[in-house]
Amino acid sequence: MKAICWYGKKDVRVETVPEPKLLTKRDAIVKTTLTAICGSDLHLYHGVIPSVEVGDILGHEFMGEVVEVGTEVPNLKTGDRVVVPFCIACGDCFFCRSGMTSLCDNSNPNACLTEKLYGSSAAGLFGYSHLFGGYAGGQAQYVRVPFADVGPMKIPDGVSDEKALFLTDIFPTGYMAADNCNIQPGDVVAVWGCGPVGQFAVRSAFLLGAERVIAIDNIQSRLDLAEKCGAEPLNYEHGEVDEHLKQMTGGRGPDACIDAVGMEAEHGFIETVSNVLHIQAATSAVLRAAVAAVRRGGAVSAAGMRTAPAGDFPLNEVFGKGLRLRGGQAPVQACIDKLSDLVVAGRLTADDIVTHRLPLNAAPDAYRIFNDKLDECEKIVLKPWETEAAKEAFSVESDELDSEPISA
Ligand code: NAD
Ligand code: ZN
Repeated sequence: MKAICWYGKKDVRVETVPEPKLLTKRDAIVKTTLTAICGSDLHLYHGVIPSVEVGDILGHEFMGEVVEVGTEVPNLKTGDRVVVPFCIACGDCFFCRSGMTSLCDNSNPNACLTEKLYGSSAAGLFGYSHLFGGYAGGQAQYVRVPFADVGPMKIPDGVSDEKALFLTDIFPTGYMAADNCNIQPGDVVAVWGCGPVGQFAVRSAFLLGAERVIAIDNIQSRLDLAEKCGAEPLNYEHGEVDEHLKQMTGGRGPDACIDAVGMEAEHGFIETVSNVLHIQAATSAVLRAAVAAVRRGGAVSAAGMRTAPAGDFPLNEVFGKGLRLRGGQAPVQACIDKLSDLVVAGRLTADDIVTHRLPLNAAPDAYRIFNDKLDECEKIVLKPWETEAAKEAFSVESDELDSEPISA
């Protein structure tokens, strides 16, 4: 089968690899019909997540058709259309039973390594390094899904692939980000980052009762998309964000601030230099800005990924302002049914963030375009079984489009 494999920093390739097999009675094999590139994949692309090995299959946002099931997967049968949560959960441990499925105790065979490196163990993730379990990812024609009796959700009839796909990760993540803010009717919420996660955070904040949402980025097409959903756009290159936010909220600051950017945010020169000196790949620039901007007694929610400590984090300010601070990987299994109902009922549009639909063999260019924010790219979905050449799919010049037709 064909799969997108990691070969090093900014080097992903479409390779022919062996098809996955059932390894346990709780496994299923899914034939992927649609997969996507996530901002989290960019951390792997930039080489800031250790323990990725040459040849590892990437991808954690995928959906498809069940083609094989183990004997202990009573909920699924061959032919079912499913969307698969990016975090792998056993369903039985304390965390899973408490609805905290992204903190599962049993799905990551390498949890002790994660604990050593990051200070806490972590659930297994599809296609996300050996620290997170070493599972093959979903940017491939087939995927082995462990704990298939717990994870995959059957897609309701009449819901298209593109509407369902984002239930795998970015919709639950954006929703969690907003939900963690305890939004009250009338609240003003500021969202840093108008990438796919930020777009779903904006939409979720409105769903949860926010009166106003301020969306912050420097990419006009992304600000425009947030504005279409009712947000007030704020370009962080046009003056001091903190000052703007004060002016927009009568001097008090937003009730809640969401970081949908994470550890690789654009930040100032001094911090870049100090990161280099401390050999620290991460920045807490957005999180610090959020803590500074939020009103006293407000909430700060960190959806953007962080795997490195932020030594300069203003804990004193969190204390002094009496803030609520939450973060984490989205517990997809715990909210996927509720969010699917919102999609089915038409209360949330999910597919309008897709700007690029490409065959799998366009992966090297797709990663480059999403990473460099070219071509007004918001979200790229890849079609693993499409055989058309990729060249026409781009409206930017590219001299490295080397796509070959995919054969099964
Ligand atoms: P993305 O890279 O497409 O979007 C990030 C956006 O932030 C970009 O539009 C960029 O222009 C903007 N940005 C950069 N620096 C900024 C700054 N200083 N101020 C304001 N905006 C700034 O990525 P994405 O797919 O939207 O993902 C965003 C983050 O969410 C990533 O860190 C990703 O790893 C994380 N994530 C977390 C979870 C979870 O479960 N918590 C799940 C998925 C993704
Ligand atoms: Zn993702």
